Amino acid sequence: MFFDEVIGQTRAKRILERLLISGRLPHALLLHGPEGIGKKAMAIRIAMAVNCLTSEVDPCGACNACRKILALGHPDLTVLYPRPATAKPEEEADLMRAMAENPYRVSQPARNLTIPMPKKRAQELRRRAALRPFEAKRKVILIFDVDYMPDTVNALLKTLEEPPNEMLFVLTTSRPGSVLPTILSRCQPLGLGRLSAEDIEQVLLGQGEAGVERARLAAKLADGNLTRAYEMLDSGDLEQGRDAAFEFLRISLEGTSVQALEWAESCVKNKKNRSPEQFMKWMLLWIRDAFLQLQGIPDGATNFDRTTDVVWLAGMVDDRTVEHVLSETEVALERIARNVNLQLVLLHLMSVLSKNR
Ligand SMILES: [Zn+2]
Repeated sequence: MFFDEVIGQTRAKRILERLLISGRLPHALLLHGPEGIGKKAMAIRIAMAVNCLTSEVDPCGACNACRKILALGHPDLTVLYPRPATAKPEEEADLMRAMAENPYRVSQPARNLTIPMPKKRAQELRRRAALRPFEAKRKVILIFDVDYMPDTVNALLKTLEEPPNEMLFVLTTSRPGSVLPTILSRCQPLGLGRLSAEDIEQVLLGQGEAGVERARLAAKLADGNLTRAYEMLDSGDLEQGRDAAFEFLRISLEGTSVQALEWAESCVKNKKNRSPEQFMKWMLLWIRDAFLQLQGIPDGATNFDRTTDVVWLAGMVDDRTVEHVLSETEVALERIARNVNLQLVLLHLMSVLSKNR
């Protein structure tokens, strides 16, 4: 199969395969799609595909060109990515190594990070772009998370428009709406989609990242984002998030209002490790499991390893409650997105749950 090392993305692979076979690959591609789905991995494979010494379409991964590009150490490959202006050379080297080792593991940079492009570096980039390739068939410039680096791309705009010597640009972004129109208009877009839970589970198992149960849980919760699945497993958020959400439901359904208040307070204090969205998602999954239990179809449960808790929860709610909680959680997520105080949102949800007793 074409581009085997890139997980899923059958549609994008088919399109790329056709473009490569027919020799119509555009000189600038913009890979876009949600976070953690393999845009960087795909970009690296495209650089290999146009330079592989043994295949025109399906990079072998073993030839000299493929291996150098995989290690992000090819003299004709330039990789530009957002990092703070204060990043030390060792830190940059570490990030490049991590990216080469497993691009899916490298998280999106912090939202507020924008990267200035010093004039000298821009000149150097343009100068290098104008040179013929040292040893590659085509020089390749990869620009990851391009929406963070308007200066970088502006400095290269002319080159992007008319790349010399068959140079290939592959840009990636998870926020195509934030990419400058001048860049969008010069690239052919190619959309990548979320990964399936099955694919994520298989990857985690295959790489020995987790046992069967944890791999399945992380895959179900990751929302098609493999980077997030790794993060959840590494941080212990998988277990803590789930426990916290169950505790929230337990206190809401059988605790006193004082206990509810205390819990909401402590949750807000501890929230540094846990995103409210993730927390809500866990809660929805618990409720969904209770619903399946009520319907007599418990096999599809996410919390398949916590049957006692699911059965207890199902005994505490009915169909009407489930419906109510689902719609209220949607509202809560919107409020959180609008930066409404998390404690207030939680207390409101608790009162909705306790009224349904
Ligand atoms: Zn090769």
